Amino acid sequence: MPRNDIAVVGAGLVGALVATLLTQGGFRVTVYEKRPDPRRAGFQGGRSINLALAERGLHALRATGLADQVLAQAVMMRGRMVHDPAGHSGLQRYGVDDTEVIWSVSRGGLNTLMLDAAEAAGATIHFDQGLAAADLDAGTLTLRDDAGNERTVEAPVIIGADGAGSALRAAMHRHSPLGERVEELGHGYKELEIPPGKDPATPFAIERNALHIWPRGHYMCIALPNREGSFTVTLFLPNDGEHPSFRSIAGAGAAEAFFRTEFPDALALMPEFAADWSAHPVGTLATLYLDRWHIGGRALLIGDAAHAIVPFHGQGMNCGFEDAAELAELFAANPDDSTAVFAEFEARRKPNADAIAQMALENYIEMRDKVADPRFLRMRELGTL
Ligand code: FAD
Repeated sequence: MPRNDIAVVGAGLVGALVATLLTQGGFRVTVYEKRPDPRRAGFQGGRSINLALAERGLHALRATGLADQVLAQAVMMRGRMVHDPAGHSGLQRYGVDDTEVIWSVSRGGLNTLMLDAAEAAGATIHFDQGLAAADLDAGTLTLRDDAGNERTVEAPVIIGADGAGSALRAAMHRHSPLGERVEELGHGYKELEIPPGKDPATPFAIERNALHIWPRGHYMCIALPNREGSFTVTLFLPNDGEHPSFRSIAGAGAAEAFFRTEFPDALALMPEFAADWSAHPVGTLATLYLDRWHIGGRALLIGDAAHAIVPFHGQGMNCGFEDAAELAELFAANPDDSTAVFAEFEARRKPNADAIAQMALENYIEMRDKVADPRFLRMRELGTL
């Protein structure tokens, strides 16, 4: 017989995982997602086409039985391949052998797999149902579809996994201030692509099993492999105020000239550079800090909705997956007391989230600045992304 009802807002990576775990634990879970079903409408990513999955995230996925399926879709990254300005590169392994690696996974592929898993476990997912308002005293959510139609549903226990711009967080904050603080990094990112090679026998233009980094002082490029042979390249650069910045090299022509000087080896592998540059937006980066993640036993924030961080440790999703696994464990031990579960969750997870937020900020400086260091090729010092 199902245990209590739980509503989850957001069917992204963390929402889908927590829905799966709680349903497997016997709860009746209903998920409300703003976007259309990506399995039918196509995935509307909006950011980072692929992600680094590390042991923390894998550990949480093992709890659902999904880890093997995810790894079957992933590309192993044994270490960082660092590219210096002269075009030399060298691999710094993460561990002594392939037991210590990280994995490049497709965000769309992973989300699809996890939505399937949540539904297979018995969770109900309503797509095109964006949270418009929440009445935490009455225990109701008001949802709005794309056409503007609204409906109100009962939701005595709500988990907000609706990402960095969380609408549930805003509603909670209106009810009881959460002590929110957002620190903009002042740097943004743009995604580009190294396409697969023409010969199907050798589709990867650079080392397949590595996370590539081109550190250049105040900015850098990274590239993560995709299964079919392409690489998603991400340029991290100041937004403005100094040169180079996204403001100072706004056009595709100026950007190409910048890459010809700073990243010539990468540019040579990107035949669609100008089109990609013009088509892809500049993403913003910030760290979200909250004093409180829950309101009694009514509502709790997890994943980016509670602790969005900058991506330089590759740990945002991994940390959100840990949230989901820990929350499911706490609910399993105490299924009828969401107040106690939410309070214990915050006490356990917040110190971890605060620590990883700080480490992620520090790692950006490590990664991008090491080029100025004459010991540059001693890549052991380049952080742990
Ligand atoms: P999201 O993925 O943002 O999902 C939120 C979901 O809620 C979405 O489906 C959204 O449509 C839905 N939603 C939003 N508003 C509403 C609403 N009002 N009502 C209903 N639904 C709503 N992490 C890693 O671990 N490794 C990496 O390598 C990595 N690389 C990154 C690179 C970049 C450039 C960026 C920006 C981030 C990266 N991250 C990485 C972080 C990672 O993307 C996030 O931590 C992760 O996506 C958080 O998952 P989430 O489910 O909490 O939020």
